[in-house]
Amino acid sequence: MMKTTQTAKKAKNNVIKRIDILTLFPDMVNSAFQESIISRAVSKDILKINCHQIRKYTTNKQGKVDDYPYSGGPGLVMAYQPIADCIRSVSAECDSTPYVIYMSPQGNPFNQKKAQELVQKENLMILCGHYEGIDERVLEEFIDEEVSLGDFVLTGGEIPAMAVADCVARLIPGVLAEGSAEKESHTGLLLEYPQYTRPAEIEGKKIPEILLSGKHDEIEKWQVKTAEERTKLKRPDLYEIYEEEKLNSQTYYFDNSATTRQADVVTEEMCRTVKFLYGNPSSLHHMGLEAERRLTEARKTIAETIGAAEKEIYFTSCATESNNWAIKGYLEANPRAGKKVLISATEHPSVLETAQSLTKSGYTVGFLPVDSKGIVDIEELKKAVTADTAVISVMHVNSETGAIQPIKEIANAAKAINPNVMVHSDCVQSYGKLQVNAKALGVDMLSVSAHKIHGPRGVGFLYVKDGIRIAPLLCGGGQEKALRSGTENLPAIAGFSVIAKQANEKIKEHEEHVKELNIIFREILTEEIRACNVISSDECCPYVLNVAFPGLRAEVIQHSVEQKGVYISVGSACSSHKKDRSPTLTSMGYNNNVIDGAIRISFTYQNTAEQVKFAAKVICAEVKKLYARRKGRR
Ligand code: SAM
Repeated sequence: MMKTTQTAKKAKNNVIKRIDILTLFPDMVNSAFQESIISRAVSKDILKINCHQIRKYTTNKQGKVDDYPYSGGPGLVMAYQPIADCIRSVSAECDSTPYVIYMSPQGNPFNQKKAQELVQKENLMILCGHYEGIDERVLEEFIDEEVSLGDFVLTGGEIPAMAVADCVARLIPGVLAEGSAEKESHTGLLLEYPQYTRPAEIEGKKIPEILLSGKHDEIEKWQVKTAEERTKLKRPDLYEIYEEEKLNSQTYYFDNSATTRQADVVTEEMCRTVKFLYGNPSSLHHMGLEAERRLTEARKTIAETIGAAEKEIYFTSCATESNNWAIKGYLEANPRAGKKVLISATEHPSVLETAQSLTKSGYTVGFLPVDSKGIVDIEELKKAVTADTAVISVMHVNSETGAIQPIKEIANAAKAINPNVMVHSDCVQSYGKLQVNAKALGVDMLSVSAHKIHGPRGVGFLYVKDGIRIAPLLCGGGQEKALRSGTENLPAIAGFSVIAKQANEKIKEHEEHVKELNIIFREILTEEIRACNVISSDECCPYVLNVAFPGLRAEVIQHSVEQKGVYISVGSACSSHKKDRSPTLTSMGYNNNVIDGAIRISFTYQNTAEQVKFAAKVICAEVKKLYARRKGRR
């Protein structure tokens, strides 16, 4: 609630100097600050705490401060006039405009973070309600923030006000002994470690021996360990956040072309869908219709991201499924389309192996050669396309090098020779990172997976241009226009649609950021390691950086940097478990010495320049060590 009036006086510094508590029971509040640490702070003039009787400001002859609520119902409501006059009068005494909070069970939760915010207000005014609360118009006119002590209801705001004032006061420098507040519970994410005082042994109970050792480093480790243990036990909710932050701060993940960390918005959307939309979209009752409505909405969102119509989007389990289905499904539905399938020499195994499997059914597979930058040679393509070519499949962005294929040019050139050829593109590494517009690319089909853009695993889609025939992948209940039966994975689809929209809205912004990260990475690597061979050209998609350290083995580099929390990959993750050398780098003309030492660094917009610098330094250090070891062996 924002207050609407009161002329602002400028705050001079960022530590609280004065707390004013407005209440109908000042004696109750005053008593709390006449003892112990806070009273010493007041007497040392570090802080002023004043209590004000609201009743003193009533203009009512009977001294009434409350009245019946207009809405009827039980209890009384504190009236506007005395509170308003009290706030105005006390504000006039303050050196700067007070930050006015109203203690209310409806407010923002009070916690250590809130206390740390409030201690920065030079003047804090705390209004205590009583009875049924206060006239709503006070909130509109004067209150900066409502603050709650917790999800329970007390008779009045006095106890919450005392708690807030006490907690805020002990954060003022000089109130506590130096360092006292630093390692306390709720200052960070862990609860405080166990405390002991003399004697070291009492009634047979000894304190942990480490505390008597005088070894400060060891004692500090013990403090962290015990703090972790007790947080895990007493507050698993806090421990989960601590673990996540710890993991994130120690992990330098640069294997985002393999997969990405699922975004929190996706997890939230998936949870919402699991909880509330568990009806089957095919069911005719209300819950089924609600689920179907979400499915339609997700399809529309995703269709819009590639400039397609809803009816052209088919949800699948991943791009591998989409790639398989696109090629095989098209040939099955169009048996007279031709007997030749053309793919680039740098395709993902889900395209390569699908195409190769077709040779058993009488198809021939042609490989479109690429140049030294990994780009399909259009002249060679023109030579390869004939009237018998049924399908051409070329990936948009290469997963190993980031090479961007001129899909539009490829489609145009192929269709100029054979207008009936079906052009498919695996857009797994470009979707959500570069502009992917089905019409602008000139493709008939394209494949996408959600988990490459912080979406869930187990969901993807296949775009099939209206009018293109494709055979069903799965028969059964008739889902996906009877082409891919099976109950839809609605939570994953809904999660995917959320991140798809977000990623596509921020393509330019993310690309600019990632471009900078890519430049920093390559500059550090090339400056520090003379032998570094940058395989990804400047024109490549900035999300992928392939560099080789000739003479070294990429797996060894990968495992040694992993020890320092840096995650990169060898070739493409989908095929890295295979023994064969990457066909991509081979077809680009690299020799085995280079290929074997090639690593792939792949980015996300979530990476930071600091992470990049750290990871690049770690890679350089490990590579230098490996080269030195190799030299020593010679
Ligand atoms: N009728 C109110 C409602 O349902 O939200 C509750 C009024 S409560 C009985 C009276 C006063 O106690 C409130 O105006 C507020 O100042 C104070 N109060 C009660 N519970 C509180 C809490 N959890 N945190 C902060 N203030 C509280």
